[in-house]
Amino acid sequence: MPPATDDQVVDELEELRREAESCHKCLLADSRRRVVFGEGDPHSDLMFVGEAPGYHEDQQGRPFVGQAGKLLEQLLGTIGLTREQVYIANVLKSRPPNNRDPKPEEIEACEPFLLRQIQLIAPRVICTLGNFATKLLSGSQTGITRVHGSPQRTRIAGRELYLYPIFHPAAALYTPAMLATLKQDVLRIPEVLGLPLGDDEDAAAFEAGRHAPSEREALDDAISPFQRPFDEPPVPGSGGTGTPAPPAPAPGRPTEQLGLF
Ligand code: URA
Repeated sequence: MPPATDDQVVDELEELRREAESCHKCLLADSRRRVVFGEGDPHSDLMFVGEAPGYHEDQQGRPFVGQAGKLLEQLLGTIGLTREQVYIANVLKSRPPNNRDPKPEEIEACEPFLLRQIQLIAPRVICTLGNFATKLLSGSQTGITRVHGSPQRTRIAGRELYLYPIFHPAAALYTPAMLATLKQDVLRIPEVLGLPLGDDEDAAAFEAGRHAPSEREALDDAISPFQRPFDEPPVPGSGGTGTPAPPAPAPGRPTEQLGLF
C-alpha cells in the first residue's frame, strides 16, 4: 500500500478510532469504561506499543497516563523527546479487568487495529514495551529478557521498520536492575532511529552512483546488528509477561521519590 498523505493519515486514524470505540469483538467491551485507542504525533518516526490500558488509562481514554506513563515520559526526556512527539498505543485497546494478562482471543480481536495504526503512522522504529507487544509484533515467543535492546529489522503491515523491544516501564518501576537496563536501552533509541531502511539505501546508492539495487542484500549483510553492551541474567519474576506483578506500591507514590533520575 502506498504511503498515505498527512491529511489522509489523520482522517483514517480518526475513522479507525471511531471503529475501535464501537468495537464489541471481545468481552472487554462489557467491562471497559473507555477505549484507549492511542495518541501522539501520527507522523512520528517513533512509536511505542504497550500491553493494555490500566485503571487510569481506562478512566481517561489515554495510554500511559499512570505511574508507568510518568516513567515513560521521563525516559523520553532523556533523549530530548516529549510524549507529544511520538505515537503511543497498546496491543489491547480495552482494559482487562483487574489488570490481568491479555487473553489470546482479546489480542486476536484487537490486532487489526494495531496493524492499521502501524500501516498509517509508518514509523521507522517501534519500541515494544514488555513481552506481549514484543511477542506479538516480532512473531516470536522469545521473551523480552533475551531480546531487549536489540533492534530487529522487519516488515509489519507492509512497512519496513525496526522493532526495538525494551522492558515495560511498569515492570521497571519496582525493579532497579530492570530500570537501569531500560534507561540504557532508551538512550540508544536515537541510534536506532538512524539505522538505514530500504528507501534510505536506495537513495544513498543512487546519490553515490555506487550500489545497484541488486547489491542491496550485500548492504543488508553489512549492517551490523547491535551488540548488546552486556548480557544480564534474567530478571526474577519477569517470566511470562512484560509486567511482573510488582510489590504493592504506596498509593500515588511519584517516580521521583523512587530516586529514578
Ligand atoms: N501499561 C500499558 O501497557 N499500557 C498503558 O497504557 C498503561 C500501562
